[in-house]
Amino acid sequence: KETKPLNFIEEIVENDLAQGKYSRIITRFPPEPNGYLHIGHASSIVLNFGLTESYNGYTNLRFDDTNPVTEDTAYVEAIRQDVRWLGFKWENELYASDYFGQLYEYALTLIRKGFAYVDDSSSEEMAAQKGTPTSAGTESPFRTRSIEENLSLFEAMKAGDYPDGSKTLRAKIDMAHPNMIMRDPILYRIKHAAHHRTGDTWKIYPMYDFAHGQSDSLERVTHSLCTLEFVPHRELYDWLIEKLEIYPSHQYEFARRNVNHTVTSKRKLMQLVNENFVSGWDDPRMPTIAGMRRRGYTPESIRDFVERIGVSKRENSVDLSLLEFCVREHLNKIALRRMVVLDPLKITITNFPAGQKEICLSENNPESPSAGSREVPFTREIFIERDDFMENPPKKYHRLSPGQYARLKSAFIIRCDEVVKDAAGEVTEIKCSYIENSKSGQDTSGINAKATLHWVSATDAVPVEVRLYDRLFTVEDPGDADGDFKDYINPESLKTITGYAEPALATDDQTAHFQFLRLGYFFADKDSRPEKPVFNRTTTLRDNYAK
Ligand code: ATP
Ligand code: MG
Ligand code: MG
Repeated sequence: KETKPLNFIEEIVENDLAQGKYSRIITRFPPEPNGYLHIGHASSIVLNFGLTESYNGYTNLRFDDTNPVTEDTAYVEAIRQDVRWLGFKWENELYASDYFGQLYEYALTLIRKGFAYVDDSSSEEMAAQKGTPTSAGTESPFRTRSIEENLSLFEAMKAGDYPDGSKTLRAKIDMAHPNMIMRDPILYRIKHAAHHRTGDTWKIYPMYDFAHGQSDSLERVTHSLCTLEFVPHRELYDWLIEKLEIYPSHQYEFARRNVNHTVTSKRKLMQLVNENFVSGWDDPRMPTIAGMRRRGYTPESIRDFVERIGVSKRENSVDLSLLEFCVREHLNKIALRRMVVLDPLKITITNFPAGQKEICLSENNPESPSAGSREVPFTREIFIERDDFMENPPKKYHRLSPGQYARLKSAFIIRCDEVVKDAAGEVTEIKCSYIENSKSGQDTSGINAKATLHWVSATDAVPVEVRLYDRLFTVEDPGDADGDFKDYINPESLKTITGYAEPALATDDQTAHFQFLRLGYFFADKDSRPEKPVFNRTTTLRDNYAK
């Protein structure tokens, strides 16, 4: 292990191992298949899988699919793909629903031991029975049912004899317990609904609290890591394991990780999808793993981000800029450099013959010499960015302006000789001359051009659709702002334009990451086709929000 200080979970694990409590550790990542995984889940994935990579053990992928109404097999597929893409291998792929039979048996055990009863109270009545944190609750009139009656009623619930909501199975604990969750919590509810894996087999479904710890125990999970809102549930987790006399898994809690300028809640992300604020769960503006992948983030950069923020016992939100920083760090090392002009201004090189081509060599990645170089054609007509030219520049402007020199990246130095305008006074073309002995790598001109501009041959360029993204929300914490979080959606979070790319981009491996010189990092979108390439801007080269 590297020298990084241990986080509090690693300390617990090291202590347990040092004391010989376990010979190996087992963790699980337990998503509910009711949506796509987001950047917050990445924290939990890296934590669970990271622990068993560092220490002797393994991690299960367990779908916590106890709620038939919201779950779907399509989400299961997406979650599997995302965890794999992040670079993790699970030991077993498991489903809480696989344990429905065993969980039912556990419920019978509790009834037989006098620790559970069937209650006919409505949900309103049960809520009233709960009492308040400062006062004791009241016992349900059904609490004293005999074991035999409870067994037969619970069997009838399972058989589908009763409508939804008419009965529940509750744990018999203590209606005056200082922990509200311990006041006879519901273990099972009736739900006549088809489940994505068990179909119509079950008419009753276990509550999260009844399924989770029992699933952990069945898998002999040693360290069950969950987020802070489950702290008060730990007492019930332990109570159930103790009463059932099953393998004692232990629950530990860490703080949820939230990232600002976005939302990390499946429920909210689902609204963005269903109400068409985005094109889908994998829209490149979404903080989902699928969205980030499509946008061009790499698994390495996401893991780096998650490791930098670490685990904590206190909830706080992390700046989106840190994630973008990690993305740039990685892409700088691996991205192929290419030239693309997004807002073209035509330049005619008056002393370069039409129809002729001068091949220039340009390095693919200055950070990685082994990446080699590619050929870039220089021709009489080229494009530069419109904002790389100014007719009446201020003093410190070093790009192209009348009478001034600028270098074209990997090619020649040019001088601006003449500005051509249309009737409205708009600049339509620049006439330049190139300096023949100024070719990059063999420049003997002695001319000192201060700016190096990216450019493409106007005759050889390939038009590409370019999608420029900005933050999806205009405020730091849209989830917590007044009113509806969707009121804070940035109307300019997506701009689609046509760019002109150097020809190499058309034949490049389209799964590669690119740096379009001076413009940012780009990645081919899933909509991209050879006849109509589409590139997403993954991120700009610098943090445009830095203060
Ligand atoms: P959401 O609120 O987005 O629906 P969830 O907790 O209901 O999240 P689950 O599918 O139950 O989603 O999450 C699987 C695992 O990921 C759980 O162990 C959960 O605690 C963890 N997790 C979810 N969101 C975060 C987050 N923001 N930071 C860290 N861990 C998270
Ligand atoms: Mg959950
Ligand atoms: Mg949830």
